[in-house]
Order: sequence, then C-alpha cells, then structure tokens
Amino acid sequence: MPPFDVPFDVPEGDPFGPHNLPYGVFSPPGSSDRTVGVRLGDHVLDAGAAAAALGSPYVSLLARPSLGPLLAAGRTAWSDVRRALTAWVTVPAHQEAVAGFFHPLSSVALHLPFEVADYVDFYASENHARNVGQMFRPDAADSLTPNWKHLPIGYHGRAGTVVVSGTDVVRPSGQRKAPSDASPVFGPSVRLDIEAEVGFVVGTPSELGRPVGLDGFREHVFGLCLLNDWSARDIQAWEYVPLGPFLGKSFATSVSAWITPLDALEEARVAPPERTHELLPYLDDTASDVEPGGYDLRISVAVNGHVVSEPPFSTMYWTAAQQLAHMTVNGASLRTGDLYGSGTVSGPSAGERGSLLELTWNGRDALELPDGKRTFLEDGDVVTLSAWAPGPGGVRVGLGEVTGRVVPGEV
Ligand code: MN
Repeated sequence: MPPFDVPFDVPEGDPFGPHNLPYGVFSPPGSSDRTVGVRLGDHVLDAGAAAAALGSPYVSLLARPSLGPLLAAGRTAWSDVRRALTAWVTVPAHQEAVAGFFHPLSSVALHLPFEVADYVDFYASENHARNVGQMFRPDAADSLTPNWKHLPIGYHGRAGTVVVSGTDVVRPSGQRKAPSDASPVFGPSVRLDIEAEVGFVVGTPSELGRPVGLDGFREHVFGLCLLNDWSARDIQAWEYVPLGPFLGKSFATSVSAWITPLDALEEARVAPPERTHELLPYLDDTASDVEPGGYDLRISVAVNGHVVSEPPFSTMYWTAAQQLAHMTVNGASLRTGDLYGSGTVSGPSAGERGSLLELTWNGRDALELPDGKRTFLEDGDVVTLSAWAPGPGGVRVGLGEVTGRVVPGEV
C-alpha cells in the first residue's frame, strides 16, 4: 500500500486509471485560482505544482490557468508531457514527490478548460441525416441532400457560448412559425432538444492559405471531449433557410470538463463505414497509407438519470480527419483552441439516436420516463452525456460526462 492518501492504487479496470490521464482546468477547494489538472481515478493532480516540485521543464505548460499553452505546444510536447505524467503517477519515486498535489475530484471546481477560438459543427452521421431528411423533406426522392456523400456538411457556430459541463442552460426565446400559423410568434422555445456529439480540440495552428491534409489530423488535433449541441427546433425550423443554423443553436453548447488526448485512444481507432461514393482526393482515406480515422466511442444519453439512448460513434460516415481536411481545403487557417463538433451521433437502431427529435420522431412518439412523458425538454430537466472507449488490455477509457439543466428564461 502506498503511504499516502492518494489514488495511485486506482482499482484495476478503473476507466480513469493511468492509461487515461485526461486534462482539465480546476480551482482547488477554497480558491478561485485556476490551474491545469489531470484526472486519476476520483482525484485531480495539480499538474503545474507537481511539475514545479519535480523541477520539470513542463511547468511552463502546466502551471497555467488554461490548457491553451499546452495545446499550442504541439504534438511532440503533447507526447513528452504525457510520458512525464505517466511516470509521475506510476513510478514509486515520483509518486512520493507528487503525492501532496492531489485533490479529491468532489472538492474542486471544474472550468471550461481552454479558450474556444472558432467553433464549427458538422452533420456526419448518415443515420441522423436520413432521419432528419425523412421528417423534414418527406416528399424528397432521397432522404439525403445531393451533396451529403461528397462533403462533410458543416456550419460555423458561436464560440463565445460554449460552456463547461454543469452550467445551466437558459431556455432560449425566439421567433417560431408552424406551417399552419398565419404569422410568426415570439416566445420561449417549446421544442428544446439536445444533440449528442463528440468535440475535437485543435492545438497546433495552421497557416492561412495552406490546407491541412488528412495526414495532418494528428499533428493539429490534441484530443476530444463530449459535446451537447443544444438545439431549439422551432426557432431553427423557421430561421434556417437559406443560410443554416443561427439562433436556434447559438444560445449554448456544452462540453465536458475533461479533454481526452488522442494518445489515450489508440486502441479505440477503427475503420469508418464503407463509403458508397468515390471521394475527391483530399477526402479519400481509402489509400493503404492512411490510418483508420474512425473512433469506437460508446455514448450514453440520460434524461434526469434515465438512459434514453446509446449512440455508437463508430458508425459516423465522415471522420474527424476528413472534417479537418474539408474545413481547411479552401485555405481557412486553424487557431489554437478551435473546436469542431462531429454532428449528432445516431446509430441505425431506434435506441441509438442522439437527439429527441429523432427519438420521438419530431414529437409524435413521446418517451416514457419514470417522471413522465417527454417529447422535447421541460424546465428542470437534466441531460447528461457520458462515454467510454476501449483501452489497453480491455480496460475502458472514460470520457467523463457533459451535463446541463434546463432553466426557464426571464419572462
Ligand atoms: Mn449539431
């Protein structure tokens, strides 16, 4: 037994064991100072303080109030810092030196871990796109739009309203107009929804005018988080033609407090589903020298603690590497802290859909929850996304959770 009350003896199989080591930003008990933390079991290591105590050169990246400096440091630094952290929590001599810098997870305040630069959201699940197409364009010959299999569709969202897990979400007000209404009305959304997604966090910036190819994904992307793209379906339906999502999305986007580095997800990499259309060269990942770009992430969606869906990320048609290549192919550059969402994750079966829009088929089929029926969200509802991925030796890699409670807006 280690001689200190810290979590080096995390139980075998703990999804937050030393194989994971996700990054966040926290304030210790009784303090408003922010600093980088690394999760081990149900404890948080003050990584900057540990680095200082060990005389580590990484103190300049870790004793910071944001993950920004670490994100900007690039792929080699990410691997080096992770190797150092792994040693600190697994090698007995280092364990002793860092033992005093852990806090119980339940005692700290978690913050948005990095300053979100630009925020983009995609639409990469074929099941989701087909479900939405069937609901909103029932007379169309194909439930997919003609471009869907040729490019990853996306839109620019609002970076300044990305919030950390645990932040209340105020029900948005806006214009809505049902097809049967003579004119639009204004008021609180009556069709507030979620979208279960995975967010990808850009570390290394790119140069304006220089596209990032498929092989640049691992150089530029640091890690991933869980993301809830809250969506007011009634506001969205009235406003979106012809320029796409706007106020129906921009009121809030929630992300998990822990960013899982790609380096912790090697065992979770899988080949994406077979493509039915030939892709243009900048998106074509079928060449033998391109590494598989999919990730096997198992997501769970709970409303008020009751699991309503388990979307499988491995079914996503477009990969995060293709999304990165597409959003830079016109020469648009990347900035440290750019965040892009995968799009709603929906699997092929009914219990795998990542939005209430799909789970209730646009409000037609209410969900039966222990606390009553739901079509869309009611004030007081708490939505929690959680996820895990396969890790080394069959151990799970925990991706944490992103949770948020709906509160009424001012009337
Ligand atoms: Mn979305």
